[in-house]
Amino acid sequence: MNVVTTRAQVRAARAAYPRLGFVPTMGYLHEGHLSLVRQAKAECGAVAVSIFVNPLQFAPTEDLASYPRDLERDLALLREVGCDLVWTPGPDEVYPPGFATSVDVRGGVTDVLEGAARPGHFRGVATVVAVLLNAVGADRAYFGQKDAQQCVVVRRMVADLAMPVQVVVGATVREADGLAMSSRNTYLTPEQRAQAPALYRALCAVAQRYAAGERDADALRTAARQVLASAPLGELAYVSVADPTSLAEVVQVDPAVGAVVSTAVRFGRTRLIDNVVLPPS
Ligand code: AMP
Repeated sequence: MNVVTTRAQVRAARAAYPRLGFVPTMGYLHEGHLSLVRQAKAECGAVAVSIFVNPLQFAPTEDLASYPRDLERDLALLREVGCDLVWTPGPDEVYPPGFATSVDVRGGVTDVLEGAARPGHFRGVATVVAVLLNAVGADRAYFGQKDAQQCVVVRRMVADLAMPVQVVVGATVREADGLAMSSRNTYLTPEQRAQAPALYRALCAVAQRYAAGERDADALRTAARQVLASAPLGELAYVSVADPTSLAEVVQVDPAVGAVVSTAVRFGRTRLIDNVVLPPS
């Protein structure tokens, strides 16, 4: 496994692979990340991973300084899954002196949901992903469905800017009790951790109601809220039933289009997000 730090090194190393998949991460890897790495390796033959905690996507009040980090453990996990290339840039390598560009995906997809709660977050995400994708020059880039809005924003950016990379979205990997894996789950107290699976249970309740024929979006939102009430340590930020492409809230789910159902709940200082897709029929 080749571990490099500079833009020039990653670009030079990339030339060794006829096809390359790429998984951008902020490190502190878990099975959610590793599933994307395995999928990329299986589909492309070779896989690169970046590990970079991106300051641009954290607000001053957020957890940039305390975000969990363990590079040695991450590298050991990546070796085990057959990762070929790891890029661990410092901030000056991603944002060289004089860096003055930002990528702003406008419109509803960045203003709503996580974008409403975290102003500037998706500008930080789009900007870093643009730098990382351009620097690595992979054929395919892999993102997790866990961050559904991020996937929508990245797809929009790649299409709008004609970036020569195919975006692939991998399924959300969960703990045995349904909680979506996240590096931030380590912040939860045991009591919060015990209640956190309510997010996925709520989303499953919505999926069941939808499968049983419910199309009214408010009825679906109410079904989720009822389950989330069983987690009193959590403060509900939103339950959304939205169009999968525009992320606009819907009144009725069009079965030909489906919807993405997402929720965010704060447990103390930890904001958990999760989603399920109601597939088109
Ligand atoms: P992060 O390190 O949190 O920026 O995540 C890096 C990539 O892994 C992103 O594309 C995430 O959506 C994806 N990811 C994080 N958690 C999961 C999960 N539980 N299942 C699948 N993908 C995930």
